Amino acid sequence: MTATPPTWDVQADVVVVGFGAAGACAALEAAGAGCDVVVLDRFCGGGATALSGGVVYAGGGTSQQRDAGVRDSPEAMEHYLSLEVGDAVSPATLREFCRESPGMLTWLERHGVPFEGSLCPDKTSYPTNRHYLYYSGSELSAAGVAPPAPRGHRVRGRGTSGKLLFARLAQAVSRSGARVLAQTTAVRLVTDAEGGVAGVECRTLRSGPGGPGGPSSRTAPGGLGRPDALDAPAWARVAHRVLHRWSAGPYLYAPKLGRLLHEPVAWLERRHGRPLLVGARRGVVLAAGGFVASRQMMREHAPAYRGGLPLGTAGDDGSGIRLGEQAGGATAFLDRVSVWRFLSPPAALLSGVLVDRDGRRVCDESRYGAAIGAAIMARHRRAWLLADRATIDEARGQLRRSTLWFQRVQAFYLLTAGRVSAPTVAGVAARAGVDPAGLAATVAAYNAIAAGGGPAGGPEDPAGKPAELVRAQDRPPYSLIDCSIRPRLAYPAPMLTLGGLVVAEETGQVRRADGTVVPGLYAAGRNAVGLCSRSYVSGLSLADCVFSGRRAGRHAAAARPVASADRPAPAAGERRGYV
Ligand SMILES: Cc1cc2nc3c(=O)[nH]c(=O)nc-3n(C[C@H](O)[C@H](O)[C@H](O)COP(=O)(O)OP(=O)(O)OC[C@H]3O[C@@H](n4cnc5c(N)ncnc54)[C@H](O)[C@@H]3O)c2cc1C
Repeated sequence: MTATPPTWDVQADVVVVGFGAAGACAALEAAGAGCDVVVLDRFCGGGATALSGGVVYAGGGTSQQRDAGVRDSPEAMEHYLSLEVGDAVSPATLREFCRESPGMLTWLERHGVPFEGSLCPDKTSYPTNRHYLYYSGSELSAAGVAPPAPRGHRVRGRGTSGKLLFARLAQAVSRSGARVLAQTTAVRLVTDAEGGVAGVECRTLRSGPGGPGGPSSRTAPGGLGRPDALDAPAWARVAHRVLHRWSAGPYLYAPKLGRLLHEPVAWLERRHGRPLLVGARRGVVLAAGGFVASRQMMREHAPAYRGGLPLGTAGDDGSGIRLGEQAGGATAFLDRVSVWRFLSPPAALLSGVLVDRDGRRVCDESRYGAAIGAAIMARHRRAWLLADRATIDEARGQLRRSTLWFQRVQAFYLLTAGRVSAPTVAGVAARAGVDPAGLAATVAAYNAIAAGGGPAGGPEDPAGKPAELVRAQDRPPYSLIDCSIRPRLAYPAPMLTLGGLVVAEETGQVRRADGTVVPGLYAAGRNAVGLCSRSYVSGLSLADCVFSGRRAGRHAAAARPVASADRPAPAAGERRGYV
């Protein structure tokens, strides 16, 4: 007797793995092109996107920039970004990104994401609820090379606005007709005899968009095509959802506690997850986030970054990248991690002097937090900010006006427990464990520049700090604020992985090491190499998610159906092509 081959439990033209910004944008484009789209998410969607600050890097003359009276051009944006992006993407792709940037924001607005052209007067790591446009990178420090413009467009919503960004994208996906299968984890890709990706093998806790009692026959639209008897019990689905949500906050601020709280979630998946085969007629888009939550991948690719605060969710376990690798995809920039060390707000601290253990200047203190983080990492992770009494007093005065709650906690720590002070520069150096002679020489040189004694006879700072921020630090007592990168609850060093699968930049298709593409497989967001893979500035990851997600969705929708499109799923024994 020959067994009837199993069929796909669910089939769609385009299957998107991961429902964060990149996955949502891929789904919107594919559904907009008339495709039947299924989006899978291990949890209920949102990922790091929903936890994020919701800052999208955009420029070249967006309507918000015009409202704020800011002049910008695609060329100026391209010029600045070329300094950050380096060789992560080709010049042609960077140009396309900058030219399309105003249109990208309009597209997001059309899908319900609100922005506003209210310009923040301070240099800050994140503007308060009064301002939604700001200098989110190192544009001012690079003013001598590229005309600066504020390009951080924060989604207009109170608090951290990533949740609003995702909520609006999720509503748009729901309106588009795409089906979202929550609590469904992609565990393997199914490939056909030609090596093309034909579908995804998953483990699911769900019965379908209707939930228990909802559509579940093989023919019902939206149903997963399995008898209800196979569904995980309702309590397990509820517990999975609630426990994951509860663990997300601790995961971000106290990772050990977050991991502990997340263990029952993983247990529920192992205990109650059921197999599900999802077929993709045109393509699979991997959009499952980064790998900062995978201790194994972090050890393997970025061992220097222990002690940072993983910026993401338990879903950032690199599973999407590994799925692509198993299908033959190549990876790059996996060793690139963005570590953030923000000195402001309060903005007054930007006039201080950042030094290493030898008392030598580390970098321009007004640069973007990730650039400062990278400079500190290069100095054995140790750095201190020297500030005199006037700077500390001014910083104290700015605290309330210029901070949101999480910035206030950090700033308060910097101005209290994170600081030592003494009446002399030598005295404060001794208290902090910094070389006194080195510090004295650095401070003397800095004060000379502030007094107009820069190398060209003016106040030019050799480190590149804008002249208005170079202010003499000469009023005792002196403070040294410990800015070293090490685990500290009140002053963590958040970090984000930047590398991923190598993609063909015109289409988003995953590339093999020999340069050929894996048919039917696309990657986007932090699953892929993109604009921010060499260097991150605030907003560039989400902007890249929108750019690369849309690209992958558009091209997957237009792809020729893969050879195995309407064939039944291969039986377990025949899954030669299983990866
Ligand atoms: C606190 C914080 C603040 C940030 N602020 C900003 C900011 O303001 N601007 C900016 O540009 N960037 C910011 N970032 C970074 C940015 O949020 C992320 O880089 C970006 O959201 C990644 O989007 P994504 O779509 O690639 O992945 P995610 O948004 O993480 O979505 C991936 C989804 O895939 C799911 N998934 C994972 N594995 C699987 C699997 N095997 N099967 C099915 N589903 C799976 C996950 O559950 C998740 O929902 C911030 C990050 C954090 C944490």
